[in-house]
Amino acid sequence: MNLKEIQRVIDDWIGKNGGYYSELTNLARLTEELGELARLYARREIPARDLEDVSRHKMQEEMGDIVFALCVLANQAGIDLETSVQDVLNKVKLRDADRH
Ligand SMILES: [Mg+2]
Repeated sequence: MNLKEIQRVIDDWIGKNGGYYSELTNLARLTEELGELARLYARREIPARDLEDVSRHKMQEEMGDIVFALCVLANQAGIDLETSVQDVLNKVKLRDADRH
């Protein structure tokens, strides 16, 4: 599934489940998900018996949550994330053309 399809599936799902929350609420949810991923990275840096084990599966789950939340915001703003990512790739290629 490409990003355009993912955005459409998410839009369909939200449409059938009560509609979108406000953009500000969804921005907060995206931030919350980023925080959850940051927590996992922090847990990896400070291993201790009483802390949860950080598995690749948990990181994958949180990264998925982040992509989902970003797709929600993009849908609300009418942004095609495939175009966004392509623009970034073009920018990076130009910027770093002489880097290595
Ligand atoms: Mg999460």
